[in-house]
Amino acid sequence: TTFADLALSPRLQQTLSGLGYEAPTPIQERAIPLILAGRDLLAGAQTGTGKTAAFVLPLIELLQKMPAGAPRPVRALVLVPTRELAVQVQASVERYAKGGDLTSTLVYGGVSIAAQVEALQNGVDILIATPGRLLDHLRHGAVSLSAVAHLVFDEADRMLDMGFMDEITALLTFLPQDRQTLLFSATCDDNLFALSKVLLREPELIEV
Ligand code: AMP
Repeated sequence: TTFADLALSPRLQQTLSGLGYEAPTPIQERAIPLILAGRDLLAGAQTGTGKTAAFVLPLIELLQKMPAGAPRPVRALVLVPTRELAVQVQASVERYAKGGDLTSTLVYGGVSIAAQVEALQNGVDILIATPGRLLDHLRHGAVSLSAVAHLVFDEADRMLDMGFMDEITALLTFLPQDRQTLLFSATCDDNLFALSKVLLREPELIEV
């Protein structure tokens, strides 16, 4: 399988070959077509499998299809357990979206709120956030999630281990019901299945 077989745009294919990516990894091969088709996903994948590109690449494709010049509400939200992972995911978004006009920004705790508020007000297509700080911004009206069409949980098992379930439940009240949801996790236990029941609609299951 090649990236062209996965129906990624020529520009994205060019970016990937420029990065030296010769072929999709197994998780990418399985997840990308399902995400492009709008399906919900429960994906079991460890770090190092190429899981980040497995959701970032199709998100870039899906978000490109919006008319230019329209208002820019957040259309994709990636929730992550830690600041480190947030930084890594944004680096991937920037690497793969190079040459396009998609914008992304980061929201995590432990740093000043003001700079994040300003970045949010400039308009952002893809928001990458840790749950607690995002909730702060929502409660202060600094960001709206009412146009989010794609919701991703990266390392969902770690988010549950870190006790983020209450924050996640609260966040869901700010999100549209009608959306695509992708749940990525290295491990899968009863808590994760319970979360997936709340979040996902007729999900496809992928294990690599
Ligand atoms: P991840 O599992 O998302 O943390 O990605 C692990 C590493 O694999 C990252 O450094 C990516 O840049 C790299 N990578 C992702 N997809 C591919 C691919 N299809 N071919 C080669 N390298 C890749």
